[in-house]
Amino acid sequence: MLKGIGGSAGYGIGKVVIISDGKPEYKQHTVTDTDAELQRFENAMEVFVEKTQKMADAMKEKVGEHNAEILEGHIVLISDPFMQDQVKELIGNGECAEAAVDSVCDMFVSMFSQVDDELTRQRATDVGDIRVRMLKILTGTPDINIGDVPAGTVIVAKDLTPSMTAGIVKENVAGIITEIGGKTSHSAILARALEIPAVLSVDGIVDQVSDGMMAVVDGCEGVCILEPAMDEIAEYETKRADYLKEKELLQIYRGKDTVTADGTKVALYGNIGNPEDAKGVVAADGEGVGLFRTEFLFMGTDSLPTEDEQFEAYKAAAETMQGKEVIIRTLDVGGDKDIPYLGLEKEDNPFLGFRAVRYCLKNEDSYKVQLRALLRASAFGDIKIMVPLVTCVDEIRRVKELVAELKKELDSEKIAYNKDIQVGVMIETPAASLIADLLAKEADFFSIGTNDLTQYTMAVDRGNAKVAYLYSAYNPAVLRSMKNVIEAGNAAGIMVGMCGEAAADPLLIPLLISFGLGEFSVSATSVLRTRGTIAKWSKADADALAAKALSLSTEAEVAELLKASAR
Ligand code: PEP
Ligand code: MG
Repeated sequence: MLKGIGGSAGYGIGKVVIISDGKPEYKQHTVTDTDAELQRFENAMEVFVEKTQKMADAMKEKVGEHNAEILEGHIVLISDPFMQDQVKELIGNGECAEAAVDSVCDMFVSMFSQVDDELTRQRATDVGDIRVRMLKILTGTPDINIGDVPAGTVIVAKDLTPSMTAGIVKENVAGIITEIGGKTSHSAILARALEIPAVLSVDGIVDQVSDGMMAVVDGCEGVCILEPAMDEIAEYETKRADYLKEKELLQIYRGKDTVTADGTKVALYGNIGNPEDAKGVVAADGEGVGLFRTEFLFMGTDSLPTEDEQFEAYKAAAETMQGKEVIIRTLDVGGDKDIPYLGLEKEDNPFLGFRAVRYCLKNEDSYKVQLRALLRASAFGDIKIMVPLVTCVDEIRRVKELVAELKKELDSEKIAYNKDIQVGVMIETPAASLIADLLAKEADFFSIGTNDLTQYTMAVDRGNAKVAYLYSAYNPAVLRSMKNVIEAGNAAGIMVGMCGEAAADPLLIPLLISFGLGEFSVSATSVLRTRGTIAKWSKADADALAAKALSLSTEAEVAELLKASAR
């Protein structure tokens, strides 16, 4: 069994076809007629734009507007004046068009590859894709046709570029395995849009397979099996059938309200890391955004994003959600989230150190940039501000003071914003949970971050495998904490949501219903399943289960009860 990253959920079994779409050979030579060579480049550009637009249009028909934008982005990238000028300058100096395109693309690939952020690194793949296609046009090399693979194919490739993915006939492809790419790589996004199971980042996979070899692709667990035994094939065929059946059944929840079995309506939102993801939430039928982790905007660059850059990102998310609620969390740096250019000192206990709101309130000038961007963007949708890792009342009070100051500033500059913008608190620490009643007087809403709440309540590093057995939201201490927060928020009349992973746990959902959780924020892929689970529980049934669960003493007992009661 080979381990990778689950890029697109589902199970596929089929025969391997290796797709290698390397750079075509060309003869490097010096040109004397640079005008004619420039013209040859311009002609190739025209063909490139035309072909790419055709692919994007075909993609739009297959999987919708949003995914076609990746290919349209290639047109924008190659038309970038800086890139164009660089190529033209090299041709002007006597390089042939192939060599000029190749070396300029090289420069961009190495520039993008060095950035820590996965999304920016993804652009290196995009430029690589552009290079291969431009060189093919210039050298007259025919395109390989991924669309010709026979039914039941498992595509194996070093990387699947957007243009290759665009040619896929989804009915013929059982699965995809690649050597590079992560959850947010374009190949993963497109595989998810095409609903093809995919495992990415499998080390050396291309060298381990040959055409025609059988392979199992488990996109749920992120593993693949080469030359599976008969019993493994049977096991995965059952898994695939069950998965497809469940997925089909869940479609009945599309377009529906999220209601308990006895008719109480709750909100079901999606978690996002960048404005693009908001489109995924809409496509998944999410009713809003319950957590926009803004760190990713800060990680993709080598300096702080400007107010305008942040404003554009927040506004884009708000506009995508078309007036639905978008809860944006202010910078949650430190702990497990490093932003190298901030130059934070190494600490002995980073999870207990200078992070999140603590960092922001000691760096008010840069925090104000973010808050101002959020306020300005609030004129374009229902944006709410959320403060992470709050441990005392002083922190939320200070953030609200800053927001009030900035509102005055914007008033004097006659810049629009939502005057009633809400400022909420993430409950992620035992301190916040214990003073939930006090925080509820200051905050407009709560959102429980169970990933951290579990870590801090259990005093267990969420990334440390040795103590992972303690890291569970089923621990009686964590259950009591969640209950306390929800009840305190409800008593004060403020909305209480949950944006940690526990909100999507089908076993825990009845307890959350019983405690009175009003908003569940989950990953886009979990939206329909969560709606389905909520629909199966009435308050009375959930209360009966919660009473039993709360009477138990150990995590194992709670887990056993919840598993036995699963619906
Ligand atoms: C959490 O702690 O539950 C949470 C949602 O935030 P993050 O996972 O980004 O720390
Ligand atoms: Mg957290």
